[in-house]
Amino acid sequence: MDFSIPEEYAELQRNMTGFIDRELRPLEEAELDPEEDDVPVELRDRIRRRSAELGFYAADFPEDVGGSGLPQLGMVLLREAAARSGCRLAGFTTYGPEGPTGLLLNATDEQKKQYLVPLISAEKSMCFALTEPEAGSDAQSIRTTAVQDGDTWVLNGTKHFITNGKHADFALVFAANDRSKKAQGGITAFIVEAGTPGFSVGRAQRGMVEGEGQFELVFEDCRVSEEQILGGPQNVGMGFYSAMQFLAMGRLSIGAMCNGIADYALSLGIEHAKNRIAFDRPIGKNQYVQAHIVDSLVELKASKLMTYECAWKYDHGDPVIQESSIVKLYASEMVNRVADRMIQVHGGMGWMRELPLERIYRLVRIFTLVEGTSEIQKYIIAKTVGL
Ligand SMILES: Cc1cc2nc3c(=O)[nH]c(=O)nc-3n(C[C@H](O)[C@H](O)[C@H](O)COP(=O)(O)OP(=O)(O)OC[C@H]3O[C@@H](n4cnc5c(N)ncnc54)[C@H](O)[C@@H]3O)c2cc1C
Repeated sequence: MDFSIPEEYAELQRNMTGFIDRELRPLEEAELDPEEDDVPVELRDRIRRRSAELGFYAADFPEDVGGSGLPQLGMVLLREAAARSGCRLAGFTTYGPEGPTGLLLNATDEQKKQYLVPLISAEKSMCFALTEPEAGSDAQSIRTTAVQDGDTWVLNGTKHFITNGKHADFALVFAANDRSKKAQGGITAFIVEAGTPGFSVGRAQRGMVEGEGQFELVFEDCRVSEEQILGGPQNVGMGFYSAMQFLAMGRLSIGAMCNGIADYALSLGIEHAKNRIAFDRPIGKNQYVQAHIVDSLVELKASKLMTYECAWKYDHGDPVIQESSIVKLYASEMVNRVADRMIQVHGGMGWMRELPLERIYRLVRIFTLVEGTSEIQKYIIAKTVGL
């Protein structure tokens, strides 16, 4: 067994760090208010495009659609390096829900050209519209309907919590085309362009971090042609299964981000434990403070190893249903524990907006909720052992 990070990925990490130091830190300093959360959409887009130009943004997509064919182990390490930098703009250097999704690899050649390629070059952005007020974890119970009328389809329903909903050039919308076939699927994915009559953005939903992070999307007799079905008309009813195929990529990317953020928070805690004097000695000389640091270090190490192993297996074509859920579950809970402990190590300063920990504490809360909650990951893992 070789546990060393392959040199080409180590170099990729150094290049990412260099890009962040050279170009993003000065931008952060010049354009962001350190005590406010929002990052202007125009600035995000600029960073995404620059990162795409440098070959980072969607490096794990195949070369024939504009990616670099980077294996998942490389992508995980790239995401980790970006998150570990602690730079607030680094989060836009690799793709999230606004960028390409593996599902679009199931698109027709024409759809790939029109939608996937410009997502990979970051010239366009999208949103992934699955969740509804009545259906989150139980996504197969969505109520948005798609009814065929000749060679068009009519969509009706409301989505919510949709990231980038207001700014996306198009939405990948999941709608039930046949409720009687719920157990076999009966859900179809449609590519719906912004501005399509009957498709509108509803209210903004304000969350713990960004002011306007998520949005409602409303479909009222929204008509789309059958060419807008992801993968073409033969894929009617296959939307849910398509989505399931690419779950591992999403879970690994969350794991990698959690590892990077935990690394950064821990480095702040170690530094503070060395420098803060109380009772005439550094606070890090106290075993209770050491325990916060050491417990975090041990859990982070375990999390990184399980993330790398899962990515490595994925790259070797092994099934990773259990492993990717373990990574998502463990890393997302680990980073919450680490953020909490590092605030404790900082005492009252940890609470203050002058330091990044307060924001990190709020930011990481999302990771146990999206891409399948912790409870859903436990349910999946239990199923893999026959329960
Ligand atoms: C910031 C943010 C961004 C998001 N972005 C998007 C997006 O871009 N696109 C999109 O489609 N969705 C998005 N979502 C939605 C997200 O995927 C859902 O919130 C998530 O799947 C949980 O669904 P829910 O909120 O309806 O919770 P529910 O499904 O109602 O769950 C409530 C609680 O019950 C638990 N629970 C439910 N079922 C079970 C079970 N079988 N066993 C044990 N426990 C269970 C859950 O774990 C949770 O603790 C986003 C959400 C947030 C908060």
